[in-house]
Amino acid sequence: MLTRDESNARVERFRRYLKDRRLPVTRQRITVAETLLASEDHPSIEVLRRRLLDRGVHVGLATLYRTVEALVESGQVLAHDFGEGFKRYEPVGDRREHAHLVCRRCGGVTEFSNDRLERMFRMTADEHQFYYERHRVEIHGICAECRSRDLPGAGGR
Ligand SMILES: [Zn+2]
Ligand SMILES: [Zn+2]
Repeated sequence: MLTRDESNARVERFRRYLKDRRLPVTRQRITVAETLLASEDHPSIEVLRRRLLDRGVHVGLATLYRTVEALVESGQVLAHDFGEGFKRYEPVGDRREHAHLVCRRCGGVTEFSNDRLERMFRMTADEHQFYYERHRVEIHGICAECRSRDLPGAGGR
C-alpha cells in the first residue's frame, strides 16, 4: 500500500502524463486515479465504479476504462487477469514483488512473497541465458475461510 504522500505524488505524475499526451485532465479522471492509487486490494472496474459512487462520484464506464488503461500504460498500475472474466488492478508499489492466491469461490485475493520462489525464477532464467526482469505467480483454489464453510464442525481450527 502507498502512503498518502506517495499516492499524492503518483496522482501528480499521472496528471503530467495526461498533459504530455494531450489527454483531457478532468476532475473525474483525477478522482479515478486517486481512488485506484489509494487501493490496498485488487479491485475490478466494477468494484472501482462502486467505490467511486460511494464517494459521490459518477464516472461513465467508458471514461473509467480509458482512465484505468492510461494508468496502466503510465506504469503506475498493474493489470491482472486471474481468469475470472474481468481484470483486476493494483497500484505498482515500491514494495517487493509478490504473488497472489486467488479464491475461486469468494474472489478473495491474498498476496504473498517467497524468497525461495524468487531465487528459483532467477535461476531458471539464468539457465536459459534469459535476462530476468520480473515474474508473475498465481495460485488458484479455495481460501481457508471458504473451506471452513465447507466443513461444518471444523470451523474452530
Ligand atoms: Zn474464498
Ligand atoms: Zn497484489
